[in-house]
Amino acid sequence: MSDDAERARWAPLLPHAPVHFPRDFAWGVASSAFQSEGGDVANDWVDAARAGRVPPNPGNGFWQRAEDDLQLVAGLGFGHYRLSVEWSRVEPERGRFDEAAIDRYRAICDAATAAGVTPWVNLFHFTHPRWFAARGGFLETANHADFLRYVERVGRALAKHARHFHVANESMVYVLTGYMMGVVPPFVKDSASAFAMTRHVLTLHADAYRILKSQQPQPTVATIEVYLDPRPEDPNDAQQRAAAERFDAWYHGVLLEALATGWVRVPTREPEEIPHLRGALDLYGFNYYNSTSFGAGGAGSWSDRDDPPVDRMHRKVHPGGLEAGLVRVANALPGVPLLVTENGVPTTDETFRSRYVAAHLAALDRARQSGAPVRGYFHWTAVDNYEWTFGFGPERFGLVAFDPATQQRSVKESGRWFAEVIRGGIVDPARIP
Ligand code: BGC
Repeated sequence: MSDDAERARWAPLLPHAPVHFPRDFAWGVASSAFQSEGGDVANDWVDAARAGRVPPNPGNGFWQRAEDDLQLVAGLGFGHYRLSVEWSRVEPERGRFDEAAIDRYRAICDAATAAGVTPWVNLFHFTHPRWFAARGGFLETANHADFLRYVERVGRALAKHARHFHVANESMVYVLTGYMMGVVPPFVKDSASAFAMTRHVLTLHADAYRILKSQQPQPTVATIEVYLDPRPEDPNDAQQRAAAERFDAWYHGVLLEALATGWVRVPTREPEEIPHLRGALDLYGFNYYNSTSFGAGGAGSWSDRDDPPVDRMHRKVHPGGLEAGLVRVANALPGVPLLVTENGVPTTDETFRSRYVAAHLAALDRARQSGAPVRGYFHWTAVDNYEWTFGFGPERFGLVAFDPATQQRSVKESGRWFAEVIRGGIVDPARIP
């Protein structure tokens, strides 16, 4: 397609006047342990790869090169780095904690601080230790104590090294893909299990919040959820409308009500109260990639335009979903500050990536103008990493590439463009590629 046609596609999504960000706006990058560290760890994704159900994951070398990567992102101007702890490294067998692995995470947090970058530590990002999966994972409430013991141990070990924590990444997507759709480990496809899990992940969040809050004077403990923005493909189709509404009521509705009130109203289950869930968040971590459509052929991606740009995962670019979602969450959780904890795009086209970021930063700014208290933006991700069921294909989210043979990093064009945005605190339309 010609450059002009592509430019025309982007034009309505990009800002036409400079977008300014306050001096204290938090610019960060986000990553997860398994996606960047990879390796032969004792978790269920490694087992699923051995069984040929997901691609293998050699990692991008972060485990060894974290210090250099942190210097690199600091050099681009980012002041925050979201990482996660791989539970199976820290507790490879039930009850046996690996002190060397805990020390490494401590050293990574310290390296971030030394580079002028604030570490944000997430304790669960989709992967289960093999032993935990074998015992039935979170579906078995008897196993919840195992997770809380791990949270207590790691929270205590890192208490003097990090101040910002997340209990889990996208617990609702974890439940949706792992328990409702059954497309990722533990490959369960059963709505009753998914509804039970909805309650479990909320209870675990509340329990872990308490633990982490008791371990140091003033930590931030935040959720992270991805906004899916469900829409009927054809707004005049009653069935599609109903499907989108049903999904929204569970996926976003239950979550937001539970965080605000402590009441969990999951379909098919009696309402349940988790009193210590009410107010158990110091900040709401908001992830966003694209809007979801419910159409005749099932779920897809949604845009309000006929001919929007489309990414390498066939998702339509729709920054309006980020704006609408931030405003909705702000209204549902008054007084809770928001942080965009992930946003990015799978592509090998650097112009596409920079435009995607520019369009979403403009949408974020519109949400701020409407009163949503958004404190920062963390880009997914710094160095290209393992994209789950896509592995290391062309679905690359990084601002930095790496050579798999030498692990050598190279900053992409979008990384240099982003550094300029941060330096000036401004998205200048004239500078968007
Ligand atoms: C997840 C990441 C993932 C990203 C891009 C997010 O939902 O937290 O682990 O790589 O989406 O697909």
